Amino acid sequence: MGGSSDTLKHFCGIAGIYSPAPANIPQHLFFPLFSLQHRGQESAGIAYRKDGRTIAYKDLGMVSSVLSRYLTGHRESRVGIGHVRYSTHGGNKLENAQPLVVQCNKGEIAIAHNGNISNALQLRHRLVEEGAIFQTSSDTELILHMLSRSRRDSFDTALEDVLEALEGAYTMVLMHDERLFAVRDPNGFRPLFVGYHDGMTVLASESCALDVLGCTDQRELEPGDILVLGQDGEQHRRIPTKGRRKAQCVFELIYFARPDSRVFGTGVYTARKDMGRALAGLDREAGLTGDIVVPVPDSGTTAAIGYAEASGIPFDFGLTRNHYAGRSFIMPTTAERELAVRMKLHPVTDVIAGKSVMLIDDSLVRGTTARSLVKLLKRAGAREVHLRLCAPELRWPCFFGIDIPTRDELISNKKSPEEIAEYIGADSVRFLDLAHLKTVLSKADEFCYACFSGSYPLAVPLTEEERRRQPRDKDFPMEPQT
Ligand code: SF4
Repeated sequence: MGGSSDTLKHFCGIAGIYSPAPANIPQHLFFPLFSLQHRGQESAGIAYRKDGRTIAYKDLGMVSSVLSRYLTGHRESRVGIGHVRYSTHGGNKLENAQPLVVQCNKGEIAIAHNGNISNALQLRHRLVEEGAIFQTSSDTELILHMLSRSRRDSFDTALEDVLEALEGAYTMVLMHDERLFAVRDPNGFRPLFVGYHDGMTVLASESCALDVLGCTDQRELEPGDILVLGQDGEQHRRIPTKGRRKAQCVFELIYFARPDSRVFGTGVYTARKDMGRALAGLDREAGLTGDIVVPVPDSGTTAAIGYAEASGIPFDFGLTRNHYAGRSFIMPTTAERELAVRMKLHPVTDVIAGKSVMLIDDSLVRGTTARSLVKLLKRAGAREVHLRLCAPELRWPCFFGIDIPTRDELISNKKSPEEIAEYIGADSVRFLDLAHLKTVLSKADEFCYACFSGSYPLAVPLTEEERRRQPRDKDFPMEPQT
């Protein structure tokens, strides 16, 4: 839900630039990172090569404050990488900010990573047994340890070995000597794009970050692709995919990616509108209608436009979002939680008073924000509030880079839609079910739906209790691989 701490969070966004001729790489990196700010707001950083050495700068804060120093001055370089981060593991500490830069037996390596290694625990355990010392709990440090400890002589072959051992979500950009490496994992959980501008090759998590530089010939790296950029030009290599299937994160389309991006071959805006249209179809079948369609801004806006178009019910902004309210925190009391929601979202009384409101949002996590929001709308005079969600019911944790609470905290594991409606004070609640969500996706079998279905595309470290509860439902196409 778009309004408060009751929101799903991404781990990060990444960018990289290679230029065969010297250019002001740090300045150019600012813009794609700024466009990826929605993927991580807690720290930002860049690393670039200058005069044969790596220079890195990172800090807690937004791109506009941390990296604005690079908007002035000229720093000649051929290669650089950057990162925006939202912290989950290890908290919001500077040592967890990226890129990470290390000196090791393979030379100097800088890395920026988006995702989550699902077999990290086993790999880490093995290295600790062998005597490795870890400073952080981050997967990125694990990758650097593996690179350093690889018995292969060259960085390139060591990287290929390490990538073969990793499982999970790991789009990343790495810098070694004067070269840039870009990698997308064999399941393709997270997107990674390449485009070209003014002789430079630009890499970024989303197409909107290439658009800002005016990049042409944009394309998405395929799952398992390794792209190497250097003085020898552009080389393509592959991570052995071992029969792994595509498992692109459907939440990128539902919520995470910016609406003006294209990810997984699909326009995000169109996909979200289609989800809204599908929700309207379900209400039409059920004979339910309202007076006005109101989005929870910004997370529900695009779907609400689709809902309004398909239903014929007028669309209006019945909630205003304060864009200056930063990240809100988990508040201990109901009154404080309501205040946090009011700081960010506020009803427009003229629009909603006396109306039956179809309230559209992306997903429902704990239900606390929805509860405050429904109360606000009713206090402002809404006659009825019907909450509609583009995502199916969230029931399972994500091991691939999204911060989803435990099963116990997810409201859909405790209550039916009717019980949720009663709990949050709404007149009804409807989720777009998995079958209907799939109808709006092209190549629906190439996505991951594990947080809805519990059917993971890779082996994951579930608890015993979770394993007992995993579905054996053949309707879900993804079977865990071992
Ligand atoms: S489990 Fe959910 S959030 Fe995680 S990758 Fe799969 S679809 Fe995305």
